[in-house]
Amino acid sequence: MQLAQRVKALTPSTTLAITAKAKELKAQGHDVIGLGAGEPDFNTPQHIIDAAVKSMNEGHTKYTASAGLPALKKEIANKFKKDQGLEYDASEIIVTNGAKHGLYTLFQVLLNEGDEVIIPTPYWVSYPEQVKLAGGIPVYAEGREENDFKITPEQLAKSITDKTKAVIINSPSNPTGMLYSAEELKELGEVCLKHSVLIISDEIYEKLVYGGHQHTSIAEISPELKEQTIIINGVSKSHSMTGWRIGYAAGNKNIIKAMTNLASHSTSNPTTTAQYGSIAAYAGSQDTLEEMREAFEHRLNVIYDKLISIPGFTCVKPQGAFYLFPNVKKAAELTGFESVDEFVKALLEEAMVAVIPGSGFGSPDNIRLSYATSLELLEKAVERMHGFVEKNM
Ligand code: PLP
Repeated sequence: MQLAQRVKALTPSTTLAITAKAKELKAQGHDVIGLGAGEPDFNTPQHIIDAAVKSMNEGHTKYTASAGLPALKKEIANKFKKDQGLEYDASEIIVTNGAKHGLYTLFQVLLNEGDEVIIPTPYWVSYPEQVKLAGGIPVYAEGREENDFKITPEQLAKSITDKTKAVIINSPSNPTGMLYSAEELKELGEVCLKHSVLIISDEIYEKLVYGGHQHTSIAEISPELKEQTIIINGVSKSHSMTGWRIGYAAGNKNIIKAMTNLASHSTSNPTTTAQYGSIAAYAGSQDTLEEMREAFEHRLNVIYDKLISIPGFTCVKPQGAFYLFPNVKKAAELTGFESVDEFVKALLEEAMVAVIPGSGFGSPDNIRLSYATSLELLEKAVERMHGFVEKNM
């Protein structure tokens, strides 16, 4: 059976090969430390779980509106008001099956064959694939390491053509952890307004910022930019709810309506129980969020210094999310590997540390390490990597 053309164009996940190999080694009894995780290692706060269970016991186990429960949309609107000072009407919000599916649905309703979406590199792996699945063309703008992996307004302007439909801004970023300042967002926003380019602002790591930095949404900068932006967010990373699959999109009413129509024929609605849990996530105490954030920041500070002391490793210090994205090109050279991909393979097979090669994020000189694991394991993993490099130099 011949598969559809659109599936053939999909790039297989680069993380998959490493994860499969790590699992295989573990099954053979090897003590592998995995630093590939893309999810917080904390439990979902208990009051959220309790609220979900209670909703089921009360019989809330049926379909909901395709765009989500009105009560949840109200909590999301309150969150925008409280955190960003932004007002969204219920008709401007759709609850989706995770932020990932929010993005997927958005590209499906936005793009015609050949429309371009500007994706700054390094990027989250799903952006290009989702754009391609919708018939669009990813256009890459290089976030240079010397500019903290961020793109400049000049680079953005240069990437725009008459086919450009949208640009993705992911701040804090997966995989680099970098954050755009309000001033930088203002300048990028001016370019978007001038050329009528829609801004897709992926703010899923909004709550995880460190070193006294502040997250700013580009939609906060001006009413014009709010009009021009679709915000994507969700509870996965902020409330340690990755498995619940609740995200949302907020912005232009017509786009949200089209997304809702599509959802009504694809997902019907996000899981009802998970929506009830998410109401509690926003309505209840936010204290656990700060505890999780502090734990991540502590790990980052401890591990960062140790990481950059490995010969051939340099690393821009992240300001958010829970990833480190060191440049290890020099370390690969020093240890005689032809590429960082080869270096990553050997790190796993010989040092028993699983990290993700940067090639999958459009940045082949780097690797991504997640610090969503215990400090004890992190320290052990970095010691192993250090030992591996010194031994092979
Ligand atoms: N956007 C970015 C940048 C991510 O890293 C992720 C998850 O890894 C998502 C979106 C998707 O989040 P969700 O679990 O809500 O689908």
